[in-house]
Amino acid sequence: MAGGGTMMLGIDIGGTKVSVGRVGRDGRVLGETLTRPSKARDSAEVVDIICAAVHKELAQGGADVAGVGLGCAGTIDHAGGVVVTSPNLPLKNAPLRERLQERLGLPVTIENDANAAAVAEHRVGAAVGMQHVVLITLGTGIGGALILDGKLYRGAHGAAGEIGHTVVEADGETCKCGRRGCWEQYASGTGLARVVFRTVGLFERGAFSGEAVGALARENFAAAHVALAEVADWLGLGIVNIVNIFDPEMVVVGGGLGNLGELLLGPAREMLKEALPPGRDQTRVVSAALGADAGLIGAALLAWDEFGVKGKREVAE
Ligand SMILES: [Zn+2]
Repeated sequence: MAGGGTMMLGIDIGGTKVSVGRVGRDGRVLGETLTRPSKARDSAEVVDIICAAVHKELAQGGADVAGVGLGCAGTIDHAGGVVVTSPNLPLKNAPLRERLQERLGLPVTIENDANAAAVAEHRVGAAVGMQHVVLITLGTGIGGALILDGKLYRGAHGAAGEIGHTVVEADGETCKCGRRGCWEQYASGTGLARVVFRTVGLFERGAFSGEAVGALARENFAAAHVALAEVADWLGLGIVNIVNIFDPEMVVVGGGLGNLGELLLGPAREMLKEALPPGRDQTRVVSAALGADAGLIGAALLAWDEFGVKGKREVAE
């Protein structure tokens, strides 16, 4: 079970949707990617949803697929192929790799979704040629991933890079991790929604997406600028922490809210002055380059690493 195909399948699954695409060795997405809902009640349904998406994608022309790379939210035991925990999927100590290999008849590798996105940005996106990169993804929460000395850093348990759950405000907003004042409660879509709710007041909490606020800011609505400035301050504060801990060459900002680009990054970058030298002058803070496909591209690139040579992992095992 391993092949010398000309493409890998990259998959990115989160709590609401699963995306699948065929990816070449150079990280290029071949043809259209496919996105479907991923609402599942248990791990068996997660497997069903992934397999259904894969079969649909294969039907579009995937006869020559050599393997599968899966990016999944949560703590992933990459070596064991197990999803240890996931914040938004019903997976706990789930041997997802084995289940998928049985069902698909293809070799599968599993990685945390932010880690996969970091691999993609590092190899074929915004951070090509860099040795030390921190990726942050701004969505409902904040995901993080580390490329250190040119390599993905997973930590002892596959849980490294959870910078969204570093506390920036003692006794602050309650976070779903159980603590209070986590960074992801402030510098994320959740944080922006809270600020807009507080400043505009009239609207239901969460009624404004980051995109909508960005559009209003571009049309010079003062309240939108004020809201974005507050979130950008929180973003900058967290980036200063990252710079002081990791001394990266580059911080790459992606995710849905990250699409606001310079509207957020410009003001956040100002705060870099508070970091220690020389990072405060030399660390670059840039937008991610690969958009929503980063996770599935990175997962596929990791599959290329493992299965690109025919039978490589089987030999290793
Ligand atoms: Zn938290």
